[in-house]
Amino acid sequence: MALSASETLAAMEPGTRSVVDLPVEDDLGVPLTLLRGHAERPVGAVVAGVHGDEVEGMAALGDVARSLDPTALAGSLVVVHAANPAGVRAGTRLHPPDDGDRPACCDALQPSAAGA
Ligand SMILES: [Zn+2]
Repeated sequence: MALSASETLAAMEPGTRSVVDLPVEDDLGVPLTLLRGHAERPVGAVVAGVHGDEVEGMAALGDVARSLDPTALAGSLVVVHAANPAGVRAGTRLHPPDDGDRPACCDALQPSAAGA
């Protein structure tokens, strides 16, 4: 079983980066980059791809995730590259199975689900 984002962050060495897929539905996962600074907490998050047809934010966030140096961070950062992977795959604004306007990642990133 895959580790949650929170469990992965807790297991990471200070000053490191990890790229993971957070399973959310069927065969799709939400791609994350986890940057573990000197301390695990506080944890910040930046999110792109809530609307699957808005590619600019996803591209920009990829640049941000690659350019940040985790050894320069006091806490940790969770970069959510595509919060609506079904919408990204279909090229649609909304979540295709239900036309929902809610990122697929959010339930999985809730503090109770993340163990925070
Ligand atoms: Zn949007």
